[in-house]
Amino acid sequence: MVFAAGCTHKEIAPPAAARVQPAACPATAPVLAYHRVSPKITNQMTVTPALFREHMRYLARHGFSTISIDQWCNAVERGAPLPARPVIITFDDGWKDQIVYAAPILREFGFLATFYIYPTVIGSPLQLSWDDVRALAAQGHAIGSHSLSHTERLNRPYAFEDQARYERRLMREVYDSKREIEANISRPVVHFCYPYGYYNTAVMESLERAGYRTAVTVNPQVNSSATPLMTLGRRIVGPAMRDAELAEYLERLPLPVATAVPGDGMICTDRAGRVRVSLSPQGAHLVDARLKLSFRWVDSTWDPRGRTISYALPQPLEPGAYTAELHAWDARSNHYVYAWLFQQDAAARGASVAASSSRRPQ
Ligand SMILES: [Zn+2]
Repeated sequence: MVFAAGCTHKEIAPPAAARVQPAACPATAPVLAYHRVSPKITNQMTVTPALFREHMRYLARHGFSTISIDQWCNAVERGAPLPARPVIITFDDGWKDQIVYAAPILREFGFLATFYIYPTVIGSPLQLSWDDVRALAAQGHAIGSHSLSHTERLNRPYAFEDQARYERRLMREVYDSKREIEANISRPVVHFCYPYGYYNTAVMESLERAGYRTAVTVNPQVNSSATPLMTLGRRIVGPAMRDAELAEYLERLPLPVATAVPGDGMICTDRAGRVRVSLSPQGAHLVDARLKLSFRWVDSTWDPRGRTISYALPQPLEPGAYTAELHAWDARSNHYVYAWLFQQDAAARGASVAASSSRRPQ
C-alpha cells in the first residue's frame, strides 16, 4: 500500500462520496460511544447504570429513535427512510457489564445498539463471552469489529516492523477479526471501530477491501450524508455527561467543508506548517469559526469573506495522530462541527508514540 506524502503542500478534497449530497437523506446522525456501564466508576469512560438510563430517557423524551448503522448506510446510499430524529448508540471493547447493565436498559426503551468487540479478550474475566455476544445479536443488536487485538498501531508500524510486516499485521487485524466474529455469530460483520480512533487512508482502504461498509472514529461530530462512511463521527460518553452536555452534542450540525489541510486520514511526511479549512458555499451564513487541535482551542484566524479558517503552527508537530475540530456558528448561535484526524509522520517515527497515544481519549 502507498501512503500519501507531503500533505502540507496541497489541498486534499474529501473523497467523492463526501461531495455527494443526496437530497433523499437530509437527516443527521449523532453517534454515542459508550464503554463500561457499571455501578463502580473505574475510569473516564465508565457510566453508571443510573446515568445510562438517564441518557436513554433523555433520548426517548426528546423524540430520538435509535437506528442501526446499516439503516444509516441505506439512507445515505439509497435514500431509505429514517425516523425523525435518528441516533446511533455504540459500545466499545466488549465489557461484560454491557450485557449485564446496558442491554436491559436498552430493552426498557426499545432501543438497539452496535457492540464493537475484539476477539482476543472475548471470554476473559470482565469481558463478554461468545455466548454473550450471540445473545446480544439475538436481541437485535449489531456486532462490529474493533480489530483483533485492539492495537494502538493499526495506522503505523512498530519500530521493529518493516513495511511488509506491518501490512501483514494490519491485514490480520482487519480480516481475521471479521472472520472470527462472523464464525462465532453466524452473521456478516461489516462495521468497524478504529482502536483509539486511529486511522489513515491506507487503513480505510484495507477495510474496504475486506468488505467493511463503515468505520467509526472518535471525532466528535454528528454525521450527515456528506460524511464518508469510513470516518463516521462519534462522541465518547463519560461519567460526568449530564443532559445539557448530551444535548449539546446531539444538537450539533454538520459543517460543510470544501477542503482541509492536512486532509482527513492523511499522513504528513513533511512537517505540517499550518492547519487550514475552506468551507463550502453552504457555509456562507456562518458568522464565526474557531479551531481546536488535540482538544485545545488554538489561536486560529477566521476569514468570513473567503470562508477559510487557518492556524499557523508555532512549532513543528511531534510525530503522532492529531484530532482537529472546526467549530462554527451562525447568527442564531446554531453550532456546526467538522472533526477529522491527520497524522504527522517523521524520520523520528516512534520517538513520541507515548505522547501521541496519550492524546486520544479512547
Ligand atoms: Zn476500544
